[in-house]
Amino acid sequence: MIRPIVKYGAASLREPTVAVPDLTHEVRTLARDMAETMYAAPGVGLAAPQVGVSYRLFVVDTSVGRDPGGLITLINPVWVEREGMQLEEEGCLSVPGFNATVARPQRAVIKGLDLEGRERVYSGEGLLARAFQHEMDHLDGKVFLDRLRGIKRDLIVRRIRKQIKSGRW
Ligand SMILES: [Zn+2]
Repeated sequence: MIRPIVKYGAASLREPTVAVPDLTHEVRTLARDMAETMYAAPGVGLAAPQVGVSYRLFVVDTSVGRDPGGLITLINPVWVEREGMQLEEEGCLSVPGFNATVARPQRAVIKGLDLEGRERVYSGEGLLARAFQHEMDHLDGKVFLDRLRGIKRDLIVRRIRKQIKSGRW
């Protein structure tokens, strides 16, 4: 089931998330729905707070469904390693219509549980490392705009506020 994606300004994007306590049927359904929602958008990643759930859980697929083994579902993820730096343009399904260049690690290693409760370790470079960092930020109540310099961020936030006011957000 495709779930509505909340947008910048929604409380759930700022709330602290909690660890997923159990791999219940509800959690599996949530993860499946999140993948479906990400593909439908389409996007390369989606974190639980973006569908209004304050759990430490995200899905990522840098192939956007083209690679049958491309879907990564991580529950209670933690960093193993991050190194280097890349500067690329980035956007977010919760901030539609806005992109900005964001500094991210060039390489990232992350571990967490899959839907069967097995520990998984993923190592990513480039776009995958960027996606991991972007989704981990969501789990910490951050969006990519928070990573921008003041002037650039203020400009985008002002434009979003205008859209919110006029009911177009
Ligand atoms: Zn995002």
